Amino acid sequence: MALGEFDLIDRFFRRPSRRSDVLLGVGDDAALLEPPAGRALVAATDTLVEGRHFLHGAPGRSVGHQALAVNLSDLAAMGADPAWALLSLSLPEVREDWLEDFALGFHVLADTHGVELVGGDTVRGPLVVTVEVLGFVEPALALRRSGAQPGDVLFVSGSPGEAAAGLEMLRRGGSMDSDDPLVLRYLYAQPRLELGRALRGRASAAMDVSDGLLGDLGKLCAASGVCARIDLAELPVSDRLLAAHGREASERLVLLGGDDYELLFTLSAAEADRGQAELRRDFPITRIGEIEAGRGVLCERDGLVVQVAGGGYDHFA
Ligand SMILES: [Mg+2]
Repeated sequence: MALGEFDLIDRFFRRPSRRSDVLLGVGDDAALLEPPAGRALVAATDTLVEGRHFLHGAPGRSVGHQALAVNLSDLAAMGADPAWALLSLSLPEVREDWLEDFALGFHVLADTHGVELVGGDTVRGPLVVTVEVLGFVEPALALRRSGAQPGDVLFVSGSPGEAAAGLEMLRRGGSMDSDDPLVLRYLYAQPRLELGRALRGRASAAMDVSDGLLGDLGKLCAASGVCARIDLAELPVSDRLLAAHGREASERLVLLGGDDYELLFTLSAAEADRGQAELRRDFPITRIGEIEAGRGVLCERDGLVVQVAGGGYDHFA
């Protein structure tokens, strides 16, 4: 059956509505949505292309998960509550088992965060997935990249680098069905929405790590007009990463690897004193450095500024 002859969105993605702010969801010409009074609408979109943003032959469930997760991570970085999603699918062929898998990955993550798919579109073409996510935040509390100040303390959540290590295992021929925790971390990385909420009105700046900690931190510093100084000894290197790669390669994975959806954020020194312990109780966060006047990112080891060679892992950049 030709793709245009029936509505795949309707068939695989239409479900009973779960949000009262969806006046009309999938099935009409457009969705009718009711944003809450007094909150700003937060919008993000991302496109994933097979072979470029996910591997050829990646499981449908993982692609469905990632397409939503990468957008939810952007909302987490704004401190937003996600609400609605739109999906545009370009498919070379209709493979029902793959689509069912894709829908499962998408819906499981959507349900976890109370997100409702309210519309979509399908076309025939190369495998490309575009998702748009909409959410809300009080305008004054939204997290931005631009608020870091000299004297602020720099943190990162979780264990960045693990997803890149998992991707590397798959690129070297590892099975997509592997239950290795590093592979699972890459295929099903979880966005940090709860942490983003906890940072509202607290962090001076925030962004998610999608292209690698070092590069993304450079963007935060540029937006804020400041310099970041990182102590390499403070980097969170997980035991799993250390066991698989040793210290030096692990550090490069932490600094240059992408796809973990962790959050990078700054707290004023006073806020760090006041709120750090409470944040630590609820979230795995690590202090990795500080913000000072200047430009760019400096990496230090034993008090000396060192150059981080990206050459060995530049395919993660
Ligand atoms: Mg982002």
